[in-house]
Amino acid sequence: MKKIYLYGNWKMNMLPEEGEAFCRSLADRITGSLYGSDLVDICLFPPFLTVPSVLKALPGSPVSAGAQDGYFEDRGAYTGAVSMDMVRSAGCTHVLAGHSERRHIFGETDEIVAKKLRKALDVGLKAVLCFGETLEERESGKTIQVVQNQLLSAFQSVPGEHAQDLILAYEPVWAIGTGKNASPDDAQEVCAFAAKLASGTFGGQSRIPVLYGGSVKDSNAGELLSRPDIHGALVGGASLKVDSFLAIYENYRKLSAG
Ligand code: PEP
Repeated sequence: MKKIYLYGNWKMNMLPEEGEAFCRSLADRITGSLYGSDLVDICLFPPFLTVPSVLKALPGSPVSAGAQDGYFEDRGAYTGAVSMDMVRSAGCTHVLAGHSERRHIFGETDEIVAKKLRKALDVGLKAVLCFGETLEERESGKTIQVVQNQLLSAFQSVPGEHAQDLILAYEPVWAIGTGKNASPDDAQEVCAFAAKLASGTFGGQSRIPVLYGGSVKDSNAGELLSRPDIHGALVGGASLKVDSFLAIYENYRKLSAG
């Protein structure tokens, strides 16, 4: 069985005490199981203020924590911003960059995403670069072109020696939080394209994982995760309950065990 990345983006949900309770229950469920093995990599992305209580509830567990965002400047007059160094020193190992909600609600351009990505990698974080097309772009046959532009713009800011800390997440905008997932064939096609572009840019040995995100839940996870170029899932809504989050991996395992 291949290694699966199971990443949960809590968005603006989970008070510190709720995050702590979630992680205590998650830690109980996964102790002594396959989850501690190299076959599963779990990371949670809580809101900034919930990160400390998540980390408090996780020591000794194989689960890591990441931030949903980080700014590209180190410090200074940037009210409301949190630097990548702050993210790292709070105990996060990962950070998201270019999530579609940051691009579309907060107006982040490819240029801003590239700067954030560079800074995240420079301070030693693993960066999850999200990319994906809108419904209009898909319906007008522009998916591959859009995805290629987003990826190449971001890849330019990644020094070769940091490529091993890069994780890609294909998240079609129309599938996020809508209950409509990309079909396994469509998701596979774009993830395979992204993997090929990454290995063309960083060298065949780079083996950068590509996750799929967009309304992943237990009922569609098995088929999606079984596709050869989909290495995991970035999960929003279904990551808010321990049962629905773990069911994603459990369904994949059942399907691949036959
Ligand atoms: C996400 O937030 O990255 C996401 C994919 O959300 P959802 O699973 O709710 O569609």
